[in-house]
Amino acid sequence: MDTKEIIDKLTSREVDGIRESGWYIIRNSQNSEVIDPLVPYIEEISSKTQNLKLGGGFASNNRFAEYAVKIVSYYASQTGCSCGVFPEIGLDLDPKEEYNNVNILETQRIENKWVDYYIVSCKKCGQNYKVFERDGHWVFYEWKKLSTTSGHKTLRG
Ligand SMILES: [Zn+2]
Repeated sequence: MDTKEIIDKLTSREVDGIRESGWYIIRNSQNSEVIDPLVPYIEEISSKTQNLKLGGGFASNNRFAEYAVKIVSYYASQTGCSCGVFPEIGLDLDPKEEYNNVNILETQRIENKWVDYYIVSCKKCGQNYKVFERDGHWVFYEWKKLSTTSGHKTLRG
């Protein structure tokens, strides 16, 4: 999807287009080649995605627009590594997916079965995150920033 198509769909106020473009931005949150060209359009994106009513029940479809705005805003205002946006937009982001650009350092399971959480590190800056995996009406994730970076501390015990 190119920049114009992303913006057209994201500002369409139509659920399918917003879901498609929003999810594209969310899974490219660590890819500056996709996000940087959207930064000049942040005001347009933000104003045209206000007061949406997209349905979706337990997990509101509005989040596809809200998270997209958060990611582009983050790039517009923050100088730190792009991974810092994970705690705000990580609900749908499985840390095992390549596009999140993290290494999995540890996988903690419950009764040797279900995943409780992962410890991951950003491939760009080494920042560690604890990512809880939760299975409600669907599988979702909660990303928490840790005070550690990879390679400097042992994370077990
Ligand atoms: Zn990082």
